[in-house]
Amino acid sequence: MQTFRQLDPLRRAVDALRCDGPIALVPTMGALHEGHLALVREAKARAAHVAVSIFVNPRQFGANEDLAAYPRQLERDAALIEAEGAALLWAPASEAMYPAGYATNIAVAGVSEGLCGAARPGHFDGVATVVCKLFNQVRPDFALFGEKDWQQLAVIRRMACDLDLTLPHVDAIIGIPTVREADGLAMSSRNAYLTPQERAQAAALPRAMQTAILELKAGAPVHGTLTALREALLAAGFVSVDYAELCDAESLVPLTTLPERPARLLVAARIGKARLIDNMAV
Ligand code: AMP
Repeated sequence: MQTFRQLDPLRRAVDALRCDGPIALVPTMGALHEGHLALVREAKARAAHVAVSIFVNPRQFGANEDLAAYPRQLERDAALIEAEGAALLWAPASEAMYPAGYATNIAVAGVSEGLCGAARPGHFDGVATVVCKLFNQVRPDFALFGEKDWQQLAVIRRMACDLDLTLPHVDAIIGIPTVREADGLAMSSRNAYLTPQERAQAAALPRAMQTAILELKAGAPVHGTLTALREALLAAGFVSVDYAELCDAESLVPLTTLPERPARLLVAARIGKARLIDNMAV
């Protein structure tokens, strides 16, 4: 596996690989876990070469968020993806991504405005901007993202369509189902912030979501079910609930009744130092 920290040598290496088959890109912020590795494995199954990017993107963190504390473990991450057969690690220095004078921002209206977009102003501008840059830097044939970040996936699909970021395949932006711990908690680099007690309490999040989904499917009213879900999380040790919403799976418009179309339950809640997000099909 080759590792790059500057754009010119990365581009040369990608061009050489491209002659020899399609390239899949897996963008990450590092501190890799089985969820990330599932993306790398799927990428490997779909493309001749896998490029993984690791960049803790300052533009997607708010002023009071965990940018400084975010776990960084590049050497360990490099060994993990190399063992999965990745060909290339793109780990740009911050100045390579945002050189002096950098001035461009991508804002995706609509789908980025509710949920995490409301709770974290500017977050999805940062995500859209860096992912657009990563696409232009690597020019992959496919890119893979986790359904764990459902709204992020929707924002990236919208941006790629709107800006004609024509990856060669129509279905080039691929969503991968959330990988979970044995107790159901969605794997996340931020789970490392939890104390053992908080980690045990955090399993209440997927459990309460499953309960809510069963109730919704049995015909319970949406508003009351979401209120009960919030209360269950607070009772289980969560400090606060940023949101718990039933939304159209594609447009992310909030719903007050269960539709015929695919719907998604999405939750963000805080426990200890961590803000955890999860989402499930309803
Ligand atoms: P991150 O490093 O948190 O920015 O995540 C990088 C990519 O991995 C994103 O596309 C995430 O959605 C995806 N991802 C993170 N956690 C999981 C998980 N538990 N299961 C599947 N994909 C995940």
